[in-house]
Amino acid sequence: MSSTSYRSSRSLDTKQLSFEDVVMTGLAKDGGLFLPSQVPHLSPETINSWKDLTFQELAFNVLRLYIKDQEIPDADLKSLVEKSYSTFRSKDVTPIKLIDEKKSLYLLELFHGPTYAFKDVALQFVGNLFEYFLTRKNAGKSGEDRDTITVVGATSGDTGSAAIYGLRGKKDVSVFILYPTGRISPIQEEQMTTVEDKNVHTLSVKGTFDDCQDIVKQIFGDAEFNSKYHVGAVNSINWARILAQMTYYFYSYFQLLKAEGENSKVRYVVPSGNFGDILAGYYAKEMGLPIDKLIIATNENDILDRFLKSGTYEKFSPEVEVKEVKATYSPAMDILISSNFERLLWYLIRDTIAEGDDIKAGKELNSWMQQLKETGSVTAPKAVVDAAKKDFDSERVSDEVTVETIKQVYAENPDNYVIDPHTAVGVQTAFRNIAKDSDSDSNIRYISLSTAHPAKFSEVVNKALNGFDGYSFEKDVLPEELKALALKEKRIKLIDEASLEKVKGAIIEELSK
Ligand SMILES: *Cc1c(COP(=O)(O)O)cnc(C)c1O
Repeated sequence: MSSTSYRSSRSLDTKQLSFEDVVMTGLAKDGGLFLPSQVPHLSPETINSWKDLTFQELAFNVLRLYIKDQEIPDADLKSLVEKSYSTFRSKDVTPIKLIDEKKSLYLLELFHGPTYAFKDVALQFVGNLFEYFLTRKNAGKSGEDRDTITVVGATSGDTGSAAIYGLRGKKDVSVFILYPTGRISPIQEEQMTTVEDKNVHTLSVKGTFDDCQDIVKQIFGDAEFNSKYHVGAVNSINWARILAQMTYYFYSYFQLLKAEGENSKVRYVVPSGNFGDILAGYYAKEMGLPIDKLIIATNENDILDRFLKSGTYEKFSPEVEVKEVKATYSPAMDILISSNFERLLWYLIRDTIAEGDDIKAGKELNSWMQQLKETGSVTAPKAVVDAAKKDFDSERVSDEVTVETIKQVYAENPDNYVIDPHTAVGVQTAFRNIAKDSDSDSNIRYISLSTAHPAKFSEVVNKALNGFDGYSFEKDVLPEELKALALKEKRIKLIDEASLEKVKGAIIEELSK
């Protein structure tokens, strides 16, 4: 069974949308997120027949279930997949690595793509999809008639490069990434600004990350600018990103079973922020992949952990005094609200209190989101929380413990394996769960997602490891390819004031060239 039409989580009618609409629009007009109301279910036989497939073959099979072949024929989908993963440095694309023989904890290394972070797995594919749909729309058109898209985004440093590498060189796509001048690390700036493709523009804005984000929001809200330049986003709520991330749950599951035996009970631990990565695991589980548990690992921005423990989805913990997002050692997970969580809530609501009715679920979700917006808090009925707990568990990890975990893994691993701070939040969560497991259930295995290469977060990694004899960041952590970036020429457009007009002016100027 496949599921190839989509609806908004806040929709109050039965209207169905195509995959192309959903990918190119991103967010629904009613403010909701796009989702397939039916998740395809695979039989155990089908799943078993997939166990020896390559990453690319699996990706094709998973995507095929969610995209009609009238929309993208087999041959085209295959070549989109090939192209998207040819940029990865590992032949497995996302290999697993045992880091603790005794406890059977595996890391799923998601950082072998061009920018050394897990977002590449999705964004390499999304960039190719954008180009594919635009090229098809533009067949036979020229000049002014062509459909183009101007992707605008803000980054605090670590995620902008994945969007740039996903969109570089794509026909009819321009990309503008704003970042705060002097507030991102040298490696992050080098990664973004040394890309030579003419369609890539990095705007270094004198201000904070929040200033950058505000400007981007205003650009999206500017109807005139929008209709003229077709502003688009590739942010973490785009359905195609969730979809592309499902593949590595299947792939790693099969790899683990081959290593540990068919009887293994597999639990996934996912360092989480906007809930996109782990949501892909939820879909894999719903599709029939026998995942025992999905464990959310949060840093001190812990809305997800608090929800599972209390049933209240609340922007700020009542205990905190400073009502703002906390800057932690794992910045890619620094959020107040997890945008993709709305998708999970929709399914949970539909299957419990809305008794299977899509429209009732939309109604209920609308009122929850309204309440969240107005009061910063919404409390779920017990049935919904219980349903969430069937699939999910959670832990919260402090900065201090994050550093300790990087140390511990380095010291205990025979080849001094180095993990990044986001990965460390997951690994600590796995350690805590392992400590709780009873000896009688010796078949439990953990796969903790490794979401970034440690070279990208040198400051925290060095803080943890500088005290070890013989440790050297340059020698042990930094890949040659990233080292080489320092020698390349940077292309930066400086915006000397955090002003909407100045940013718009820069965009218009670049586009007119
Ligand atoms: C984006 C990101 C995360 C969080 O993923 P979500 O899908 O937002 O939950 C974790 N680690 C790193 C390194 C990331 O870039």
